[in-house]
Amino acid sequence: MKILQAQAQVIDNFYIAPNYYLIKILSEPMIYKILPGQFINLKVTNTLDPLFSRPFSPYLLHKKDGIIEILYKVVGKGTSLMKNLTENDMIRVVGPLGNAFTIPEGARRIAIVGRGVGIAPLVFLAQYALSLEIEVYAFLSSGDPDFVVGKETLEDLGVEVYYTTDNRKLVTDYLWEFLKEDIHIDAIYTCGSRRLRKEVALMSKRYNIPSEVSLETVMACGVGVCLGCTVKIGTSSNWKYKRVCVEGPVFSTLEVVD
Ligand SMILES: Cc1cc2nc3c(=O)[nH]c(=O)nc-3n(C[C@H](O)[C@H](O)[C@H](O)COP(=O)(O)OP(=O)(O)OC[C@H]3O[C@@H](n4cnc5c(N)ncnc54)[C@H](O)[C@@H]3O)c2cc1C
Repeated sequence: MKILQAQAQVIDNFYIAPNYYLIKILSEPMIYKILPGQFINLKVTNTLDPLFSRPFSPYLLHKKDGIIEILYKVVGKGTSLMKNLTENDMIRVVGPLGNAFTIPEGARRIAIVGRGVGIAPLVFLAQYALSLEIEVYAFLSSGDPDFVVGKETLEDLGVEVYYTTDNRKLVTDYLWEFLKEDIHIDAIYTCGSRRLRKEVALMSKRYNIPSEVSLETVMACGVGVCLGCTVKIGTSSNWKYKRVCVEGPVFSTLEVVD
């Protein structure tokens, strides 16, 4: 697929919870090409520092208005500068990058499992799946009892949400209950948390349900040149390094080697 490079206008950029912000950018024609799981690189300043663009997943798409929402967590230099962007600022956007989540043909019901900012790409996946009339169940966890990333947005979309804010409890316990009760799930998707990915991989094996993870590694070039984002993919005895930015970020949970 052709990679687009363009200037995008900031429509809004605001605080939503401690360390979490939401930016809206006007980004046609990117919005018509990008699929859930793929990401875009944002150059968050017009200066050479930071030098590299930063990868972000679309959170929600408003195709009618050409607006992409990105939910982001402030963790370092780039994201600290990003939160200072204001309406009408222009930023460079490159994408769509990477591969997309795959939805099995004929799927009727999927589950998304995430924690913290890892939930971001799963919200876009939910929005996309619902547009195909696929039912979505969300299993979310958060360390902050006052803020569960994506909960309200997903509920507004019509997704049934289960969540926990108790770090001692795994939100996947709810999904195990579903599976034990024979509630049919066609595929499971996760992102971010290694602990949740491992749990989803166990479910995949036990119930023979395909599952995918979007890996959020630190990236530099974002287009496969620098090899800075490689991960081991395969089995523990037979693996290869793959680039998260090109061969990923989406992989089967069963093929990620720790
Ligand atoms: C495919 C993909 C999609 C992503 N989507 C989103 C998203 O939708 N919303 C969002 O908030 N973030 C997302 N990220 C993570 C985001 O790209 C990083 O948080 C961002 O690049 C950090 O930039 P910075 O300059 O603020 O931090 P830096 O100054 O570069 O780093 C600050 C600290 O954060 C660590 N760090 C940087 N990047 C990552 C990372 N990816 N994972 C773990 N630790 C990291 C560094 O090691 C360092 O300790 C995504 C990453 C990938 C690869």
